[in-house]
Amino acid sequence: MKLIDCHSHLNDFSDTEIPQILKRATQSGVVAIVTVGTTIESSEKAINLSKKYDQVFPGVGIHPNELNNSFSKETANRILELASLDEVIMISEIGLDFMENSPDRAIQYKAFRRQIGIARELSLPIVFHCREAYQDSVRVLKEERAFEVGGAMHYFQGDETTANQLIDLGFYISLGRPLIRILDLQKVALNIPINRILLETDSFPQPFKKYRENWTEPRHTLDVANEIGRIKDIDVGEVAKITSDNALRMLENAAMLKAHFESVSHHSKT
Ligand SMILES: [Zn+2]
Repeated sequence: MKLIDCHSHLNDFSDTEIPQILKRATQSGVVAIVTVGTTIESSEKAINLSKKYDQVFPGVGIHPNELNNSFSKETANRILELASLDEVIMISEIGLDFMENSPDRAIQYKAFRRQIGIARELSLPIVFHCREAYQDSVRVLKEERAFEVGGAMHYFQGDETTANQLIDLGFYISLGRPLIRILDLQKVALNIPINRILLETDSFPQPFKKYRENWTEPRHTLDVANEIGRIKDIDVGEVAKITSDNALRMLENAAMLKAHFESVSHHSKT
């Protein structure tokens, strides 16, 4: 089995933990892990990790919740500079977050639109965050012609209408562990075609959990694959194959990822 975790924040874990996290991921059949920044600094760290570990591939971007009263020209230029590096395979994490205490919406729109522009300039897909802003996101994706580069809505928890709007625009639906506990989301997953689904963990350190072993890690990509198999009554090996094909299709310009994926043997102990 060869799984791809399409969205994680591996860069937020401590350097001493990362080798063990990667080992556990490998043991669970996860052969490639996308790790994305949320600030300039964490985007730089994601790139550095990708240089150190073969199975790690970076995305760069400014997360809507990390916008502090501005999205400056300097910030945009630095993201453009980082995104231009050979290693970088996507613009992420960007998006809109309209929760009550989130940053000013006008600044969020500005940052989201500008970073979609960078993605288009460099022909990189976008993997984006969306909370309480489904129709607003779909509208921006259309207005900024984001469908020309494609990508995915990550950690999807929307309804079927939203999923279909995104799919009609050519985007993928990236599912994480909430699928295992949210019945409404399971119904959505049942009704959307598997060739539009990606797997992810959105893993980051979770010290608020009582036990370290309960922290979400890239290895849990396997749990999400198992859940999709259960919902759609498909063998998990088939789920792995189809969702990895989907990710490779989305990341069609990511030659290093493709080469790495192909070089990894099927016969890993899973
Ligand atoms: Zn994330």
